[in-house]
Amino acid sequence: MLNETQELRALEQELIGITSGGVLANAKTIWGQQLDALRPSSDISTHEVAVKYRIIKTDGGGEVPYNHSLTPHLKEVHDACDDPTKRIVAIKGPARSGKTIAFENHLLKVGMFGPSRNMLWYMHSEPDVRRYVDERVDFFLRAHGELWEKRDRAKVPKWNLRRVDGGLWEWLAANPSTTRARSASLIVGDEIDAMRQAIRDAIITLMRNRQREYGSQAKILVASHPDAGPLFGIDAILVDSDMRVRMGICPNCAHLVGAAREVTPDRRMVWNMAELMKQGEDMPRDELLDFIAEAIRLICPHCKLPITNDERLEMRHTAKWMGLGQTIAPDETIIGDLTPKEIAGFVFHAIDAPFDSVAELARQWADAKLVKDETGSTAKLKEVTVKTIGETYIEDEAGSKVRQLLETKVRLIDTGYSMGTVPRGVDFLTGFIDVQGNRFEPVVIGWSGRTAESWLIDRYSAMQMEGFSDIRPGLRLADWDIIEQILNQTYPLNDGSGHVLGIATMGVDTGGVPGVTDNARRWAANLFSRAKDPIPAWRIRLLMGDAHTKGDFVGAPRTIKADKAGREYPVPVLERTTNVTELKKIIANRMDIAEPGPLRMHLPVDVTDAHVRELISATLINGKWYEKGRNELWDGWVGAEVCRQLMAPENRDIDWEKNKPIWAQPFLPSQDPAGSGMAAPPDDFYDRLRNFNKGRGRR
Ligand SMILES: [Zn+2]
Repeated sequence: MLNETQELRALEQELIGITSGGVLANAKTIWGQQLDALRPSSDISTHEVAVKYRIIKTDGGGEVPYNHSLTPHLKEVHDACDDPTKRIVAIKGPARSGKTIAFENHLLKVGMFGPSRNMLWYMHSEPDVRRYVDERVDFFLRAHGELWEKRDRAKVPKWNLRRVDGGLWEWLAANPSTTRARSASLIVGDEIDAMRQAIRDAIITLMRNRQREYGSQAKILVASHPDAGPLFGIDAILVDSDMRVRMGICPNCAHLVGAAREVTPDRRMVWNMAELMKQGEDMPRDELLDFIAEAIRLICPHCKLPITNDERLEMRHTAKWMGLGQTIAPDETIIGDLTPKEIAGFVFHAIDAPFDSVAELARQWADAKLVKDETGSTAKLKEVTVKTIGETYIEDEAGSKVRQLLETKVRLIDTGYSMGTVPRGVDFLTGFIDVQGNRFEPVVIGWSGRTAESWLIDRYSAMQMEGFSDIRPGLRLADWDIIEQILNQTYPLNDGSGHVLGIATMGVDTGGVPGVTDNARRWAANLFSRAKDPIPAWRIRLLMGDAHTKGDFVGAPRTIKADKAGREYPVPVLERTTNVTELKKIIANRMDIAEPGPLRMHLPVDVTDAHVRELISATLINGKWYEKGRNELWDGWVGAEVCRQLMAPENRDIDWEKNKPIWAQPFLPSQDPAGSGMAAPPDDFYDRLRNFNKGRGRR
């Protein structure tokens, strides 16, 4: 319990300070609010309120009393909520760890025992707030009789507002308008890392600004899984905190050990995952995951002995928080006082929580790791690491590398073929056309059907064609006709057979200078619908890259029937949004592979430095790609990968040894079994095309 005389003096000083500084006009209001704080509120703690009164709604709609033994880690969080020396309580942890429940417990104490306070509760989106208010708020009030009694019975003016004991409680989606023109002494931010970036990065400042008049009564409670880490979001707040981690006693050697990434390596439990994945590397996926779930163990860093799931559940009951300023004595007790900080910081880990077994956590993590190994995409691994495990994901190493020209060239160059020819190992070709204001930029990539090993087959610029003075993709629809020529180019196999391979399918970027989007769609619709030799729709893929989508690598196709002015196309066209942020990580990861085999990328022996520079133009910084200089080969490889995925070459029905699909069959130039729908261009056509575009061609 606080010393009230001391607190009164402090308040008096503060009041004088605030009013004399001219920050606020109304001393009476402030005095009133501060007086509220002097009511006998502190003689019951948040933790006691939780244990005595808290009722929790279960997933099935039932209700259970708060169970301290299920979440013993929350007691110290509760205490920090009550601690007047802590301005901010910040918790990092997985989705299921009781973060929200702890803050609700503090709100329950405020509602039941006062002092009456205004409360703002921010979440990341309006649907989230609606769901939360619908499912939890009235239940919360009704399940705790005193709150129900104290609520303002007058009809609430808005769905997201409740008045309890004179205090206004409001639940809001965090956005620029809701974080202005309101004030409350208690502000909660739940899952702050999911909030939009501008809000997330300023959340503490925005909240402090809502609390200027409350002085030492102001309290901010924030929690999140670390989506935006390690530099932003909850991690950025924890940096200034007393950074407490959960430490438990090893059942084998009695040393204090913890699971969080923030625990020092000599005290950190890790699991035997790498060993198991190695042992099971030849198993089919499902069998491997079962094996891992069965054999996974936490390993004590001190005695190196395994800790079972039951043992770690038992460890939770005697585990303790340990923070900045504290050390471990020779008898393995935690000694010393926490460094005084305005922010009480709690780093919580799925291993510290009872909700998922180690086997379940391991299965999910291993599954995500396999996706990363198979495709190079880190999206799923990041999601599991951050949300399920509660750990900060350290950014993709392949993407964040700054690559050197020579080193990349030496690693990827393949002396077995030259530009414009198809080496052994290639099963089919896909292409991509980047559309610029004054040119098209085609890239053609060869693929192994089964393993996504890839070869650069061609790369040039199309700035002029015979009969065109220049190319203006945004202005002239007719200029798009050149793409049909590019699509129908064939490439000789370098096995001496005289066979050639055509391009199975080609992606076309529909974004760019004004006019490009509509011209791309209308051009494709014309090709698909013309009476003579229409091009089959599967050979041209309209793609719109989106760096902000969190969706699949390649989204579901949208049907587009008309332009923005409502003029219908001759036939509807399909367009897909691609998750370029993730797709680029795939290519960046493959670029690190030096051994020929699955996923490896090959460059022809005569590749130019200019083209290699395009390939290494991008770097991933804090989840965002930055590209310097020309990047057409990089974008093209990414676009060709999209087209590869759309052909579904891993489909089990395809027999790559004996019976390749029609779009992967080499043919003699005199035949055209792929049915491209147009006569072969004259022999020297592509030589002339390149001559027109000298300086950007192969030579
Ligand atoms: Zn041990």
